[in-house]
Amino acid sequence: MRVRRLTAALAALGLVALAACSSEAGDTEGSDPSVEVPEEVEFEEGTTMAELAEDGAMTVGTKFDQPGFGLISPSDVPEGFDVEIAKIIAANLGIAAEDIEWVETVSANREPFLEQGRVDMVVATYTINDDRKEIIDFAGPYYVAGQDIMVEAGNPLGVEGPESFTDIRVCSVNGSTPAGFVQENYPDADLTLFAEYSLCAEALKNGQVDAVTTDNVILTSFVSQDPDAFELIGNPFTEEPYGIGVPKGDDEFRSFINDVLEESFEDGSWEAAWDATAGAITDTPAPEPPSVDRY
Ligand code: GLU
Repeated sequence: MRVRRLTAALAALGLVALAACSSEAGDTEGSDPSVEVPEEVEFEEGTTMAELAEDGAMTVGTKFDQPGFGLISPSDVPEGFDVEIAKIIAANLGIAAEDIEWVETVSANREPFLEQGRVDMVVATYTINDDRKEIIDFAGPYYVAGQDIMVEAGNPLGVEGPESFTDIRVCSVNGSTPAGFVQENYPDADLTLFAEYSLCAEALKNGQVDAVTTDNVILTSFVSQDPDAFELIGNPFTEEPYGIGVPKGDDEFRSFINDVLEESFEDGSWEAAWDATAGAITDTPAPEPPSVDRY
């Protein structure tokens, strides 16, 4: 199957328009990494790739409240590293960024949204693990985070690591691996669970909780945005390999995404995506990309 897509000129116009929009909105992040969309793409008939390319559009689940990874902008389009990774994958299907429908996924509804077909893929600080692999499949990883702890600036309670969970009020998110870690290892902890991390950050600011626990990169972005309020302990105690969630059993689509990821590691687009988003917010250079796990 051969699918003709937008001309390069139109795609370029779209990118120019997007760049103009974000600077008007007072965007302080790095420059738009501008993924190029090929004019023609070719896929085997009957595959998810052929269907999506034929539609010229796709639906992506991502976070809307996590600075640096997926944060909804004033123009109602999410921005962040996960968003850029999704755009790279879409571009390889011949789909331009403006033809992606973004759907907010929170930690607890990522598997259900994939199962129900509400999204074609999920790129949302999504840890690859065996429990989730029973329900969905993962391409990747494209980044490896680690669970950490954020406290009030100055760390007044002297929190050092997870052992402090027995003595403090800690906040995390329903359906997340960090919440699971606390429940499993510190079952008596005073754990508050919200739907989204921004609500935990607010609760910490208001003094309703003493700490927020989730992946270090999510917390670092919150700290960077409000260093007078928050501080990161900076002592990660788990490994959280981020994958792209796809419907269970779609091995061709998973393998295609793995190819795209590996290519993006090689051609610099992965690094450009990092530098323009999470890297810019947290002022950290791109790490070495991880090895894709083609299980
Ligand atoms: N990476 C962890 C997870 O997938 C925490 C971040 C999140 O909840 O999105 O559960």
